[in-house]
Amino acid sequence: MVSIDTYTGTGAAEWYPKDIPAHGGQAFSFADYYMASTSTIITVQFTSDSGKESWVDIALPTAAASWTKASGAFLVPDGTVSLTVQHLLKGAGTLTVDDYSLSPIAARFSAGMVTIAFDDGWESAYQFAFPILQNAKMPATFAIISGSVNNPNYMTSDQVTTLLSAGEEISAHTRTHARLPSLSPDAMKNEILGSRLDLQGLVGNHVSTFAYPYGAYNAPAVQIAEQSGYAAARTVERGYNFPGSNRFLLRAMTVDNTTDVPTVKSWIDTAVNNHEWLILVFHQVNADYGGSDLYTISSADFQTIVNYLADKKVAIVTTATGASKLLR
Ligand SMILES: [Zn+2]
Repeated sequence: MVSIDTYTGTGAAEWYPKDIPAHGGQAFSFADYYMASTSTIITVQFTSDSGKESWVDIALPTAAASWTKASGAFLVPDGTVSLTVQHLLKGAGTLTVDDYSLSPIAARFSAGMVTIAFDDGWESAYQFAFPILQNAKMPATFAIISGSVNNPNYMTSDQVTTLLSAGEEISAHTRTHARLPSLSPDAMKNEILGSRLDLQGLVGNHVSTFAYPYGAYNAPAVQIAEQSGYAAARTVERGYNFPGSNRFLLRAMTVDNTTDVPTVKSWIDTAVNNHEWLILVFHQVNADYGGSDLYTISSADFQTIVNYLADKKVAIVTTATGASKLLR
C-alpha cells in the first residue's frame, strides 16, 4: 500500500515493476486489482533509445473500498527500448495494488485511419475549411462550445445544422470551454452533459463524442463523460490510437501555426504505415493567413493537408466512426 497524507500538487506515490524491454509497434493490455480511497491513475512510462522518458495515462480508476479490477491498454511508441506500468496515487489518500499483469494484444487496425477535427466551433472553420472538406468528400468532426453558438466569430446555429446535414459530425466541447479538472462534480456535469443536451436541441440525437477543453481531464471528468451518454472523448495528448485505446482518453495531434505541413504529412504516413488511427485537431482556418495567432492556419496549408490525405487514399473517419472500431 502507498499513502499520501498531504498532497502539495506535484509528484506521486506508487510502486512499480522494473522496466521490461519493448519496441515500437507492440501493444499490451495491463490489469491489476486495487483498493483506493480516491481516484488514481494508471500510467505507462516509456524509455527511448536516447534515454528520454515519456508517459501515457491508460486508465483513471475511481475510489474503490474493496478489491476492484482496473485495466487499460497501450501502444508502444517508436524508439522505445523499455517500459514499466505505474498505478499512481496523486492526491491525499491510500492506494493498495496487487496482481499486476501485462499481456501482448493486437497493435493494428486492418488499415490506418485519420480523423479531421475542428475544436471550438469557429466560424472560420465553417467558412474556409468546410468547403475544402466538401470538395474532397471528407467528413470531419466539429467539436462545438455550445454556449458560444451564435456569438461573434463562432458558428451560428444554422451553420451547425448545415454541417450535420452535409455529413459532418457534431461533437460537444462543453458549454463555456471550462477547464474541467478545476470544477466541482456538479459544475462538470453542467458543462459535459449540458453541452450535449444543448447541441441535441440543435441537431437531434447525433452528439456521441466529446472533446475536453485544453485537453484537460481527470478521473471525475472521464467518469461524467461516460455517464453523459458519450461513446468516446478526446484529449490533446500527443499520439496515435490503436484497437485497445481507451475510448475516453483518445489521443490526437494538434495542428497549429507552428506545425509545418511536412510534419503533418509524416504523422499521416505513420498512421498509414502502422495501421493506426490519427486524429488531427485544428481550430481556425483562414484564407491566405499569414498572421501569428497560434490556432489559425492558412486555407492553403489546410488544402495541402487534405490533398495529401486524398493522395494517400487513407480512410477519413469521424471521431464517432473511429471510436466504433475500438475494442474496449
Ligand atoms: Zn477548445
